[in-house]
Amino acid sequence: STAARSSLKIGLIPADGIGKEVIPAARTAIEALGSDIPKPEFIELLAGWETFTRYGVALPEETVKILRSDCDCALFGSVSSPSRKVIGYSSPIVALRKELDLYANIRPVVSVAPEAGQTPAVDLVVVRENTECLYVKQEEQIITENGKEARATRLITERASRRIGKMAFDLALERQRKHLTIIHKSNVLSVTDGLFRETVRKVHTFPDAEGKYDSVSVMEQLVDSAVYRLFREPEVFDVMVAPNLYGDILSDAAAALVGSLGLVPSVNAGDDFVMGEPVHGSAPDIAGKGIANPIASIRSAALMLRRLGYTKGADRLDTAVDQVIREGTTLTPDLNGKSSTTEVLDAVLKKL
Ligand code: ATP
Ligand code: MG
Repeated sequence: STAARSSLKIGLIPADGIGKEVIPAARTAIEALGSDIPKPEFIELLAGWETFTRYGVALPEETVKILRSDCDCALFGSVSSPSRKVIGYSSPIVALRKELDLYANIRPVVSVAPEAGQTPAVDLVVVRENTECLYVKQEEQIITENGKEARATRLITERASRRIGKMAFDLALERQRKHLTIIHKSNVLSVTDGLFRETVRKVHTFPDAEGKYDSVSVMEQLVDSAVYRLFREPEVFDVMVAPNLYGDILSDAAAALVGSLGLVPSVNAGDDFVMGEPVHGSAPDIAGKGIANPIASIRSAALMLRRLGYTKGADRLDTAVDQVIREGTTLTPDLNGKSSTTEVLDAVLKKL
């Protein structure tokens, strides 16, 4: 509940690369919200490739323990991953999602309309299942008489599909258009994607729902044609719900529609915890130069606050960012500007 908190404990995990530049910027933006949120307390935590090279572990137990017991929410930066397999190293973000049961990755992709109050050309949310599909990472290779053969297991369960379905319907309910598109490929994968599609559909009429979702309209689209459509007519989409891998691809594709990865936020959400995370990676090509776009992280902070019920604080962050983008005078190089991370942050703070 939001009423009970006298302070808001936020775990900060900048991790690697530009994460170390953009997460501090998001922190400063949160601090500028004053009394619109409970007094924020930040707890800096370790994870990532650099942590691994230093301590031999990518996700220290301490980090998970503190997130679980002391934090109300968290902001994660980005991890660099080695290009080749390194023994003992596995992605801390994948592990964190599992440890904290953050079963949904929610990625809104919204363009900024030329003037305030206008309808943006793109305004959609990708809701990606975060725990199964091909990400169970059960792969094997065998040698047959015809050469090597590799296989991967793709897991789809009713439980995971139902809870991601519920989350997607709940999100659709909060939105103006209340439109949900189920993404799948059940013409080919009739058993796995068939189960996903059918289970999400059933949420609509699930006895527990008691008519709650009646106002949501549901459509389905095969993943290949959904990508095509996303580029041709993005305005048809509102909320899209997808199994893990399709969701990953769709949300990166959708990010391309709004100009830069540096703009697109996400949250990893479960029933008890929420963690904001910019969609971009550690951007080794620009890391340390002070020119990373902090907007994706500031928007991730807004999403995190919104899910916790701090609508006013979230709205203020989003509005300030929109104003800076609309003005177009203080932008980082990814948006063809000449400004630094700090200058963009300062512009956002001024609007706040
Ligand atoms: P990783 O393996 O960590 O994902 P990557 O090389 O794939 O690293 P990304 O971080 O995914 O890099 O970024 C892809 C491209 O987008 C890079 O050229 C990067 O510089 C750019 N980019 C990503 N995020 C930002 C940002 N916040 N500001 C500016 N440019 C960005
Ligand atoms: Mg990347």
